[in-house]
Amino acid sequence: MPNHARENWKRTPAPVLRHGSIWYQLLFMTGAQHLHIDQDRLLEDLRTLAGFGKLTTGVARVAYSDADTEARAWLRERMRQAGLETAVDGVGNVFGRTPGGRRAIVIGSHTDSVPVGGWLDGALGVVYGLEIARSVMERGLQDWIAVEAVSFMDEEGTYLPCVGSLSFCGEISADGIAAGHSLDGEPLGDAIARCGYADNRPVHADPGRHLAYLEAHIEQGPRLEAAGLAIGVVTGIVGIRRFRIEVTGEADHAGTVPMAMRKDAGHAAVLCAAALYREMAEAAGDDSVWNIGSIRFEPGADNVVPARAVMVLEMRDLSADVLDRMESAMSACLAATADQTGRPCEATQTLDVAPTAMDPGLMRHLEESASASGIASMHMPSGAGHDAMIVARRLPAAMLFIPSIRGKSHSEAENTDDADILGGCQVLASAVERISAAAV
Ligand SMILES: [Zn+2]
Repeated sequence: MPNHARENWKRTPAPVLRHGSIWYQLLFMTGAQHLHIDQDRLLEDLRTLAGFGKLTTGVARVAYSDADTEARAWLRERMRQAGLETAVDGVGNVFGRTPGGRRAIVIGSHTDSVPVGGWLDGALGVVYGLEIARSVMERGLQDWIAVEAVSFMDEEGTYLPCVGSLSFCGEISADGIAAGHSLDGEPLGDAIARCGYADNRPVHADPGRHLAYLEAHIEQGPRLEAAGLAIGVVTGIVGIRRFRIEVTGEADHAGTVPMAMRKDAGHAAVLCAAALYREMAEAAGDDSVWNIGSIRFEPGADNVVPARAVMVLEMRDLSADVLDRMESAMSACLAATADQTGRPCEATQTLDVAPTAMDPGLMRHLEESASASGIASMHMPSGAGHDAMIVARRLPAAMLFIPSIRGKSHSEAENTDDADILGGCQVLASAVERISAAAV
């Protein structure tokens, strides 16, 4: 990070202008920056939040646990102290909104974690929302900039992935809630009731009340760090297609049946996997990723020729066309392997998540805010799912990434430099001003 960029974050706050004044209005219309992030308070809130479910350096704060509900109660209290209008809805989403009638920019993420998670995954975007809303209140800008900070429930899927953002978007039914349960068998409805959320009113995304959704998040990968950049402007959240590939053979004694007479499903599967790695590279785009994450032989005995092989292939890209190409390459590999070995190879799709594009206008505001702060940014896809993927179906949405040290996430090793945490919040605040000014 260039030093001059860090200097920018430390600049003294602009003098307070009465929001009713014509000078204020003129300054606002020109897009001059007014929101001032309190750096110490931002870091302190992040560290306080990390105290709920604290492990050595990470957190254990799965959705609907005591640590999660206590963290949500703390967050609501911090919102109240800032003068925000707060609400907790019927699944446990926490909202804090600046008062006033303007359409609000929703800013947030999630405060639940995976069972052994890092302290910034989700928490970062929520505390950014809180800090920016607080800054709006302190500067008396609520007639010009409306912000609704949010912490969505269970993004990590302890009971039902993204149940909070699905509920916010009106995409979860009573049947959907009934289908959710934890690994140890507690139904989602029971967890909601246990935490005292069951009688709360729903809060829904409403394009009449909400202007946009902005989610800041740690990158959870190594690309920003490798590029030496502090801000990633997310172009979209990748689509995922997952296939279970089954190869059929016949079990035989591994010592008595000559090689030429075997119907070896394992051998065919390994040949197929090698062809897949080769051909997928040809069909893929620059940012595509794919993975064979598991392979299993049956019956799985050292002295038995495999009768069946099952492997799982997953492919991710931002473009449905590229995914189509990769899927065709997969089909061609399966057909070629079946021809070469005489073993039937069949693929069954087990997951199909469409790519989600981020809003180009919001992306431009994020990019310009970064460059106005002297911070170089890059466009990048998100290879992981986020609440923004759901909310983008109802509101224009965009995401900002900050670097993860060594790309580590979903572990206690997850961390980000304080300077990058502060810079990201200032860039997001600046984007909030630009988006608000453009909407006047
Ligand atoms: Zn997350």
